Amino acid sequence: MYIGSHISASKGFEAMGKQALKLGANTFAFFTRNPRGGKAKEIDPADVDKLLALMEEHHFGKLVAHAPYTMNLCAAKENVRNFSMEMFQDDLKRMDYLPGNYYNFHPGQGAEQGIEMIAEALNGALFEEQTTTVLLETMAGKGSEVGRSFEELRRIIDLVDLDDKLGVCLDTCHIWDGGYDVVDHLDDVLNEFDQVIGLDRLKAIHLNDSMNPLGAHKDRHEKIGQGHLGLEAITRIINHPALKELPFILETPNDDEGYTNEIAMLRKLR
Ligand code: FE
Ligand code: FE
Ligand code: ZN
Repeated sequence: MYIGSHISASKGFEAMGKQALKLGANTFAFFTRNPRGGKAKEIDPADVDKLLALMEEHHFGKLVAHAPYTMNLCAAKENVRNFSMEMFQDDLKRMDYLPGNYYNFHPGQGAEQGIEMIAEALNGALFEEQTTTVLLETMAGKGSEVGRSFEELRRIIDLVDLDDKLGVCLDTCHIWDGGYDVVDHLDDVLNEFDQVIGLDRLKAIHLNDSMNPLGAHKDRHEKIGQGHLGLEAITRIINHPALKELPFILETPNDDEGYTNEIAMLRKLR
C-alpha cells in the first residue's frame, strides 16, 4: 500500500524522504513552493538525487506534489492569472528533476469562463517532453471553485490538446462535501467517475475525513475516522479494487505523531 502525508519542503528533498520514512510512509505530498506566496527555492540536483535513491531503496510509490494555493489559472484579475501561469510553467520544469511523478493543482476559482481559461492555460503550459502527469484535484465546490463535479473536470480535459499529460486526484473530503456519497454509495460514485472521466485518469487519492455533512461545500478536513465519512467508509475506500494501488495522501489536521498513527492504522485496515 502506498500511503503518506503532506510533508514540509523547508529542509529540502532528501529531508522529505527521511521524514516520510519516520512516519512509516512510502509516498508523500509537498508544496513545490511557498503555498501562500509564490517564491520557489533554487533546486539542488544533488539533494534531489539523494531523495530519488532513498525512494528507490525503500520502494516508494509516486509522489503527489501540490501547487501553491495562490495559483489560480482562472482568476478574474489578469495579473493573478499571469503570475499563476508563470508558477505553473516553472513548477513543471522543476518537477522534471523528479521524473515521472505527479503535480496536483486546484483548477481555480473566480471567473465565469473558468473552465475555458484553465484549459487555455494548460494548453500553454503542458509540453510534449514533460514526464510529469498533471492532476486536476476534485474540489468541494466552495464559492466559485471550478472542479466541483466530475463533469467540470471532464470539460477541462476535453479542451486540452496534450490530454495524455492529465489525470485526476480525488480528494475524499472534497467530493463528499461536493455531494458524492462515498459512505453509502462508493461503487456508484466510482462508476459515475468512470463514465464521466474514466478510471484510467484517476492517479491519486487525497484521503481525508470531513468535518461536514454530505453536500456541505465547505472543505474542512477531519482526522481519519473522526468525521462524517467515518472509519468504515474509509476502510472500504482504501481496499476498493479500483483504488487500492493508488498513492493515498493524508491531508488531515495532524502533527507527526498523528500522521504516524493514522498511517499505521490504515496499513492494518488493508
Ligand atoms: Fe489540494
Ligand atoms: Fe486535497
Ligand atoms: Zn481541502
